[in-house]
Formats: sequence, C-alpha cells, structure tokens
Amino acid sequence: MNAAARVRSNLLGLNRSELESYVATLGAKPFRARQLLKWIYRRGEPDFTRMTDLARDFRATLATAAEIRVPEIVTARTSVDGTRKWLLRMPGARGAQQAIETIFIPEPGRGTLCISSQIGCALDCSFCATGQQGFNRNLSPAEIIGQVWLANRELGRDPDGERVITNVVLMGMGEPLANYRNVLPAMQLMLDDLGYDLSRRRVTLSTSGLVPQIYRLAQDCNVALAVSLHAPNDRLRDELVPINRKHPIRELLEACWHYLERQNGRSVTFEYTMLDGVNDRPEQARELAVLLSGHDAKVNLIPFNTFPGTKYRRSPAAAIQRFRDRLVQGGVMATVRRTRGDDIDAACGQLRGQVLDRTQVRLGSKLVRLAVQA
Ligand code: SAH
Ligand code: SF4
Repeated sequence: MNAAARVRSNLLGLNRSELESYVATLGAKPFRARQLLKWIYRRGEPDFTRMTDLARDFRATLATAAEIRVPEIVTARTSVDGTRKWLLRMPGARGAQQAIETIFIPEPGRGTLCISSQIGCALDCSFCATGQQGFNRNLSPAEIIGQVWLANRELGRDPDGERVITNVVLMGMGEPLANYRNVLPAMQLMLDDLGYDLSRRRVTLSTSGLVPQIYRLAQDCNVALAVSLHAPNDRLRDELVPINRKHPIRELLEACWHYLERQNGRSVTFEYTMLDGVNDRPEQARELAVLLSGHDAKVNLIPFNTFPGTKYRRSPAAAIQRFRDRLVQGGVMATVRRTRGDDIDAACGQLRGQVLDRTQVRLGSKLVRLAVQA
C-alpha cells in the first residue's frame, strides 16, 4: 500500500448525514451522498469508477480521496444445515492480528445475519465462549456494517433477485451497547432506505443489560431489543451475568419498559440460556413468569451450547420444554431457539474468533470502566 492509499478516507460506515458532510468537503451537493449510499449498500459496489451516474470528475476525486475498505475473509465454512460462518481478519489493538466471526442462518422465508460488535467481550458472562476470552477492542462502524456488506456479496441474490439477508441480529461477539458510538451509525445504515432498508423489527440488538445505554438507545434509534436475562433473580444473575452487580434486574426491566414505550415497540425478547441444574428448575420458571407477566415480553429459551473448558451442561430437552410450559402457564410467551450451525461452532455463545492479544479483564472497577466507555 502506498502513502496516498493509506490516507484515503473509508466511506464504509458513514451514515447519511456523515456522508453528506464528507461530500461537502469535496464541494459536492448532498444528493451525491444519497447516490453513494445506493451504490455502496444497495448495489454493493466498492469501486467509485463504476458508479456511472456520478459526474466523471467527482468519481475521479473520490477515487483518489476515498475508498470502500471492507474486512478481509480468512475462512468461510458451511454447516450441514446451511448455516454459514465467516472468520474475518481484524487488526487488533497493540498490533496482534485478531479475527471475528459473522454467521448467516437460512430459514424458510428469511435469512438472518448475526454480526459481531467487538473483538472479544469485557463482560465475562460465565457461560459464554466470547466472554471467556477477554476483550481486545471495539469494532469501527466500517467493520460492523462491513460484515453485512461482505455477507451480501458472498450470498448474492435469491432466484427472484431479492437480497438473501432479511434480518440482522447483533448477537455475535461482543456487547453492542459497550460500543455504542460505533454501533449506532452501523444500525442507521441497516435501517436507511438508501442503505439496507431493513424494517426496525428486522434489526435486533441484544444486550446483557447496560442500563444507561438502553435509555440512550431509546432516544437515538428504533430497533428490536433483546435482553440477555438468564436468571429470575439477582443472586443467580450476579453469578451468570456479572454486569448485573452494577445494573440489577429491577433497573434493567424498568429500562426495557421505558424503551418499549418510547419506541412504540411490540415487545422485548428476553434471552434465557438453559443451563442444566443451574437456572432450569420449575420454580425458577415460576419466578421468571412473575417478573415478566403483564408486560410486553417474550422469552427465548436457548439450549446451552458447549465449548472447551466450560463447567456448564445443556439442560435436557424435557426440562427445557417443561420450563417453557411453566412460563406459558404463568402468562408469558416463550419459545425455544433451534440450535443451528453446531457442527461448525457457529451457535450462540460459541463464537471465539481469534482474540490473541486480549486484555484480561475480570470483575472490579476496570470491568465497569470498559463496559461504559462507549
Ligand atoms: N453481548 C450480547 C450479544 C451477544 S451474545 C448479549 O450478551 O446479549 C448473544 C446471546 O447468546 C446472548 O443472549 C448470550 O447470553 C447467549 N449466549 C452466550 N453464550 C452462550 C452459550 N454458550 N450457549 C447459548 N447461548 C449463549
Ligand atoms: Fe459478552 Fe454477551 Fe458473551 Fe456476556 S454473553 S460475555 S455480554 S458476548
């Protein structure tokens, strides 16, 4: 790479107003930014010289001043069930090469892309492979939306010419609300009608419960909210999801109901990973039902996905079913998530990427500082 190439601005990840400001610095009108959005996201075009409805001079200026720099694919794997996983190379903090994972899950009538928001995660949930690896750094907006861009390119269109990705979930590596500043423009591009034009119900942000950022999100962006609850009381949740010690369940639920009211949302989905003998007992289902009934809440039970070194086991299928039935009897909607991509380690909580040069973050003030630095 020569010196000129190094200073080119990466336009990937700039939301509409940022792109308008950028083209203004080149003396162009705001509608040029709208044209660029369409080319970059709708058409997936990385080469300015091929953007034929832009003025020739403007294309030439862009080609020297800017670029569309997408992450590099290290490996691509496909599961027997059609799930696909890409390992993407990321320059890590303090020099070491890192990698993150992006997953595509095809289902009848929809295709869900599960994207990462950080290299590793600082929050240290005891049953999560990503958390066990520690934290390296936040992904940039370009690296977050770049996962959608790349997957779109790799997957192409269906026989009707439609895009294969219909839904995006921020449920890969990392805690999206701990990287708020970079996740926000990426989500705005998913929703923008000149970007990926996904409806707000088809973009889901999953959080382990960073309460202040849930309030912030309620002001800034309208997407579906999923919350990793995993326990019906603070005693157990403190152990499984350590951020609960800072933001306990009562505060978290208040933030969720506020979000729904403010965003006119249908419901919040509560994720609950089923851990054998830990959180899967019938009385725990009753306790959970008491917490959530009467609210617009759905529970998604996730069979635990194992990974090397974990002390947890997956709850038996019968226990998961019984837990679900108890919730429903208690007036709470509940579903069991089908595990996909097991054979290529692409299931929830199994994403490890390659967090080589991690900052070993454990509980204490350091964790809290990292968690709220967005
Ligand atoms: N950091 C965010 C999003 C990424 S994790 C969050 O915690 O919500 C996506 C979901 O997978 C979360 O609900 C998480 O708790 C769950 N999960 C983590 N490890 C898991 C495992 N080993 N088996 C099943 N689900 C897991
Ligand atoms: Fe981080 Fe989510 Fe894993 Fe917890 S479950 S360690 S918040 S990625």
